[in-house]
Amino acid sequence: MHPEAPRSTPKHPDRILLLSTTTGYQLRSFTDSAERLGIELVLATDRCHHLEDPWRDGAIAVRFHEEDASLAAIVDAARARPLAGVIAVGDRPTVLAARVAQTLGLPGNPPSAAEASRSKKLMRRKFAAAFMRTPWFLEFDAGENVDAVARRLSYPCVVKPIGLAASRGVIRADTPEAFTAAVSRVRALLARPDVRAQRMRDVDELLVEGYIEGREYAIEGLVTGGALRPFAIFDKPDPLEGPFFEETIYVTPPALAGDERQAMLHEVQRAVTALGLRHGPVHAECRVAPNRITMLEVAARPIGGLCSKVLRLDRGEGVVPLEEVLLRHAAGENVSAFERERRAAGVMMIPIPRRGLYKGVEGTERATAVPCVEEIRITAKVDQLLEPLPEGDSYPGFIFARAADPGDVVRALREAHRALNFQIDPEVKILR
Ligand code: ADP
Repeated sequence: MHPEAPRSTPKHPDRILLLSTTTGYQLRSFTDSAERLGIELVLATDRCHHLEDPWRDGAIAVRFHEEDASLAAIVDAARARPLAGVIAVGDRPTVLAARVAQTLGLPGNPPSAAEASRSKKLMRRKFAAAFMRTPWFLEFDAGENVDAVARRLSYPCVVKPIGLAASRGVIRADTPEAFTAAVSRVRALLARPDVRAQRMRDVDELLVEGYIEGREYAIEGLVTGGALRPFAIFDKPDPLEGPFFEETIYVTPPALAGDERQAMLHEVQRAVTALGLRHGPVHAECRVAPNRITMLEVAARPIGGLCSKVLRLDRGEGVVPLEEVLLRHAAGENVSAFERERRAAGVMMIPIPRRGLYKGVEGTERATAVPCVEEIRITAKVDQLLEPLPEGDSYPGFIFARAADPGDVVRALREAHRALNFQIDPEVKILR
């Protein structure tokens, strides 16, 4: 409990706090939805990363790595503008959002649950404690004697930095030598100024765990009072077998039998319960082998950035973006009648063809003309350094498609992708 928590402050039914790291599509979708719903959005952003933030007016300046000070700033602002709910967008603000909710007495996740869902290490511990299927895992420090660790492992395994997200630094190793090389690579990544600038906690801690076989799925839903309301299961049709795990296609609905779907959702609910998540959006990922579902993670936030555009919901009044439903939920409305739009939908996060400076892309018109393709969004900026995984953390763009059949969606995404030709120049290295 915050010492100066304004417990008795009346709640404003139409004012929602949005804690966000990004300023792109998703934020605009929240702003547009809020306007339609007559909800006032209060933004809290990490200013040091968004000096150009167009939403600067009225936003509360916070620093996601200084949680106490950020909480105090938000609580202070909420005295003048009482809040009805809070939403975290992106991985970084989920714990702060939970602390804001707890302090102001708003629906949200317990901070310890948000903390567990943000940490790959705590999440594994919670899953194991709940007797869920979990690979073996071992925590170690980036400075530890790696040869000694390598001898203790079984292979294949997966190395990951505890503090990073979006598959950054996640590397499969099939031998002790590959493990040693992977750790060196992750150490170099963790030492980079852009990573250190994020000032993540646990930044030097690594996790290694058993490689989980199986096809990967993502589940998007909302939790209310600890109960999961799933909105969509996304199939990831491209094999994700490493050594790096670049996401490409998400498509929904997946080709799953009813009982497989039920079993998967049951596991996600178990994971939500194991973590102690109570209220808000969740994005879960799991791997499925015959008769075996293993949870990779459950994040206490919605599907990220532009990708969220793929998910549209409907309750018989016309399709709305996911952000509208999240706002309604945060404002206390029962949103369980919303269903995923009936048509199949998919997004391709365009893979980075090679490292280098982005100069442009040809073929967008041809790619957009592919039947079922809805939109192509190139987000890379000219002269931006494109860096593939495991070091990179962004995609050059996204392709969206909708059709009656998910197979047609995947075919359209692949065909559109083939039509694109990226121009990437080698980096100029200045030799002294
Ligand atoms: P992040 O939060 O950075 O995305 P994850 O732990 O979710 O990190 O890992 C990213 C991706 O790496 C997963 O989506 C999955 O494809 C792959 N991966 C991670 N851990 C394992 C594992 N133990 N076995 C197989 N694949 C894994």
